[in-house]
Amino acid sequence: MKIIEKINQSNKTLFSFELLPPLKGQDASRLYHTIEELLEFNPQYINLTTHRDEIEYKEIKTGVFEKKTVRKRPGTVAIAAAIQHKYGVPVVPHVLCAGYSKEETENMLLDLHFLGIKNILALRGDSLRTENLFKPQEDGHKYAVDLVHQISDISTGKYIDPDIKNKTCLDFCVGVAGYPEKHFEAPNLNFDLDNVKRKVDAGADYIVTQMFFDNQKYFDFVDKCRAIGITVPIIPGIKPLSKKVHFSLIPRIFSLDLPEPLAKELQRCKTNDDALRVGTEWAILQAKELVKNNVPSLHLYTYGLADNTKEILKSIF
Ligand code: FAD
Repeated sequence: MKIIEKINQSNKTLFSFELLPPLKGQDASRLYHTIEELLEFNPQYINLTTHRDEIEYKEIKTGVFEKKTVRKRPGTVAIAAAIQHKYGVPVVPHVLCAGYSKEETENMLLDLHFLGIKNILALRGDSLRTENLFKPQEDGHKYAVDLVHQISDISTGKYIDPDIKNKTCLDFCVGVAGYPEKHFEAPNLNFDLDNVKRKVDAGADYIVTQMFFDNQKYFDFVDKCRAIGITVPIIPGIKPLSKKVHFSLIPRIFSLDLPEPLAKELQRCKTNDDALRVGTEWAILQAKELVKNNVPSLHLYTYGLADNTKEILKSIF
């Protein structure tokens, strides 16, 4: 079932969580364990991230480096289908511009269609760690909006490959990303909001936000989206902090602010267990207020941690 249908048919807040595929070489047992821990809360869908190739330099002898392309977490398409078939919960694999040509994306969309996947989250992806600015793959998309256009085209049977006959229309429900505190590359929030509007106009059915720790930022973002004519559901993304290092890492990686009371609490934490408690309590406060305000769905950046997610869900559902 499409996520947008689930949202439209529900009169209460739904919930979903986001997982990472296993590291290359590992099996999926940990992933399955996390899902099984959370099934009792009836997740309406599960998101699965995608990870592009990275460039690494390996020292083969003193001072001599070899360039190596590595994909640390391959397998999103396969594991998305495996989870959906095993648990009967719709899975939303993330589809990236980064690292894919348009034709490779087309082939991926065909694979997903054959595997019964009806929902995708369309994203640009980040630049390589070795690059300052995002560079698209040769013959790939530069922005997420271009990817959304490709997905919309294929829903009307318009393929990249001109020689295809008997073109099946692939009908996906498409989510896109939104940033309550602005995407770090955008010059200002209005510029970034216009980008979100373009993605919706290109065919996106809903928006999922980047994590935020101050609900007012989400409420303001929704108001600003509505003011420029974005009418689709806007799903808030919540990240329960769980480690001391998150205090410095999360604001830096995601270009966002931690509210002062949360920052102060985290600074006082002596151990990761303390940080886990503080992060979970903060996420519970956020989630309670969001549910009270009838948000369409709560998206939890679980990343394999089931215990804190369970605590949050127990407190709200
Ligand atoms: P876009 O919408 O293309 O925007 C990127 C930037 O380009 C923005 O600053 C925008 O304002 C700007 N821009 C857009 N159009 C133009 C234009 N014409 N001219 C100039 N600037 C323009 N990353 C992964 O690698 N894998 C994942 O699985 C993953 N999952 C995610 C899930 C969620 C819910 C979110 C919020 C993010 C996720 N990301 C993931 C991170 C995401 O890929 C990065 O944030 C990326 O830097 C931007 O992706 P986007 O789709 O928002 O890009």
